[in-house]
Amino acid sequence: MQEPNLSTAAPVVRLIEEFYKLPGIGPKSAQRLAYYLLRMPASEAEALAAAILEVKEKVTLCSVCQNVTETDPCRICSGGQRERSIICVVEEPLDILAVERTQSYRGLYHVLHGAISPMDGIGPEDLKIEELLRRLRSDEVREVILATNPNLEGEATAMYLARLLRPLGLKVTRLARGLPVGGDLEYADDVTLSRALEGRQEVES
Ligand SMILES: [Zn+2]
Repeated sequence: MQEPNLSTAAPVVRLIEEFYKLPGIGPKSAQRLAYYLLRMPASEAEALAAAILEVKEKVTLCSVCQNVTETDPCRICSGGQRERSIICVVEEPLDILAVERTQSYRGLYHVLHGAISPMDGIGPEDLKIEELLRRLRSDEVREVILATNPNLEGEATAMYLARLLRPLGLKVTRLARGLPVGGDLEYADDVTLSRALEGRQEVES
């Protein structure tokens, strides 16, 4: 990151550094955000700070599906209207929002919190796979949909899980092709994602 001007006040430098740690924020954006905040009315800045603190205090992971939640178990896991024999496995909590938006899925979810990526040093042990296996041992699950992203890491993760889950005697399916390759599930449009869900196919051994 480029050296801030020596005349920059220390708190501003600190704020720029904090923004720079966020995903997708480069040095220029970090500076722009910091100076935007400087000009913001104090009440708005306080509301932003309070929202950040609140999310850290009140939001945890659901002990069942690992989704971010205010209540444990989360509303989906404890909801009476959900089909409990089917689990849709996704990489990130945002992917649940994408699938829910399609309104064509009524089952449960499991969030892995990432994908296998040897390049980034992320292995199966870094994902919530043990938690998934625990669920499959105790719940009456008949089908697991592997809805990881249609990119290299997502495919590798799906293949790893398929090998792990098939011996358990479950139906293991993968979203149908047609999602933009290399993309993220969360950016797929509702119709495409809905079709990919409906057209899911059993993973061949
Ligand atoms: Zn849950």
